[in-house]
Amino acid sequence: MGEANNYSKIENLVIIGSGPAGYTAAIYAARANLSPIVITGYEKGGIPGGQLMTTTFVENFPGFPNGIIGPQLMDLIKAQALRWGSNLLEEDVLEVDLKQKPFLIKTSTKTLRTNALIIATGASANKLGIPNESKYWSKGISACAICDGATPQFKNEDLAVVGGGDSACEEAVYLTKYGSRVHLIVRSKALKASAAMVDRVISNRQIKIHWETELINVEGQEWMTNLILKRSNSELTEKVKAKGVFYAIGHTPNTEIFKGQLNLDEKGYILTKQGRPETSLFGVFAAGDVCDSEWRQGITAAGSGCKAALAAERWLSNEKLTKLVKRKEVEPSQANKDIESEISTKENFNENVLWHKGSYALKKLYHESKSPILVIYTSPNCGPCHVLKPQLRKLINELNGKAYFIEINIEEDEDIAKQGGVTGTPTVQLFQSKKLINEWRGVKQRSEFKKVINNLL
Ligand SMILES: Cc1cc2nc3c(=O)[nH]c(=O)nc-3n(C[C@H](O)[C@H](O)[C@H](O)COP(=O)(O)OP(=O)(O)OC[C@H]3O[C@@H](n4cnc5c(N)ncnc54)[C@H](O)[C@@H]3O)c2cc1C
Repeated sequence: MGEANNYSKIENLVIIGSGPAGYTAAIYAARANLSPIVITGYEKGGIPGGQLMTTTFVENFPGFPNGIIGPQLMDLIKAQALRWGSNLLEEDVLEVDLKQKPFLIKTSTKTLRTNALIIATGASANKLGIPNESKYWSKGISACAICDGATPQFKNEDLAVVGGGDSACEEAVYLTKYGSRVHLIVRSKALKASAAMVDRVISNRQIKIHWETELINVEGQEWMTNLILKRSNSELTEKVKAKGVFYAIGHTPNTEIFKGQLNLDEKGYILTKQGRPETSLFGVFAAGDVCDSEWRQGITAAGSGCKAALAAERWLSNEKLTKLVKRKEVEPSQANKDIESEISTKENFNENVLWHKGSYALKKLYHESKSPILVIYTSPNCGPCHVLKPQLRKLINELNGKAYFIEINIEEDEDIAKQGGVTGTPTVQLFQSKKLINEWRGVKQRSEFKKVINNLL
């Protein structure tokens, strides 16, 4: 691994991961004046904000009696971490060297050196590995109902969810809002979800449960049209019509980069001292789903993030390695709030505004403007869209106003989404002089968009 390059200062504490565990650790470490660096992750092991960015209502996180939308909860926790002086690096960690002291942490642009490390890299959704999986990925197959459920191709069609736990049940109920019927494919004889969730599924007439059944393949033409199901106790297969199938079959811990350097269990979870955040290496702590295959909840992850930060603070102090960072002000300023722009109409359209919303702006600028136009297709409650939008807003300034950005909510502008061939959110299309120049699906680094737009200018 390379030398510490453009970041040769030694940090007190680096936190890898920006789910509830990572951001909670950051709140505690920042309040202890350790000025922690949070490497948020980008796409390798999930998006910034972690798994709760892919869900709708979180109804069990204390303090929100009426529930809160997952991405909103993560925005609030992030704002709290920032308010107290955490520093964010919005990249993936590609490599670590924990044999060296200070530890070396490498991202695509930086190599950081740090005395203490908290690993909060969470877990990623599993895939089935069926024969046509890659062919129909994003053409019917998805691992996130909340992100892709509003896609026009799914509207009033038969859909399916694979799995029998809380996530599968939640997704099946959620998808009844879009599909005409939802097949829940359950490998065993019972659902493993909480009793309240099981009741919701059983009482929903739009959900058909296929007990002791496996999905062995999907078929279709350009888009998937059928599920191929097999009963566990039979060799016979059955074809069932469905335009979409959503995986909810568990997770794998994001520990690839730590293999051979830390003690892991047989499934890859980081082993810590029982009930404590210390790992097999002094100065390295773990928190959240990455070291917890059992409880895997937002609140348990947040709690373990708190423990990891307190343990790291004590360890740094015992080792006499702490370099406290003095705050400019004793009291931090208020946390930032995101500003939502209004939908552009004939009456309020202003061509000097660079971020527009809705089909009116798209039609007008598509026909009249010579500047590059970036169209961002989003859907309500889509966590990855939530991550991408602030990145693209930063791009407006970096491009010195030389491109337009138009946000299209695919639920409100269904026809436009269909016309654009949008199969999931976020999707971004770049147009110039009525020509489609490029398309990106999912969350990408803003440098990728910038490079292609700059080539047009
Ligand atoms: C659909 C769904 C619904 C859920 N609903 C609920 C609920 O209602 N209530 C509840 O309490 N829990 C819920 N959970 C569980 C909850 O989301 C998790 O337990 C919790 O998010 C775990 O937090 P974490 O911080 O450990 O990890 P995660 O949330 O998984 O975050 C991991 C972070 O690490 C980052 N990362 C990974 N690899 C790297 C790398 N190489 N470099 C840099 N960063 C990296 C990721 O980008 C991400 O930011 C739900 C989970 C899912 C999937």
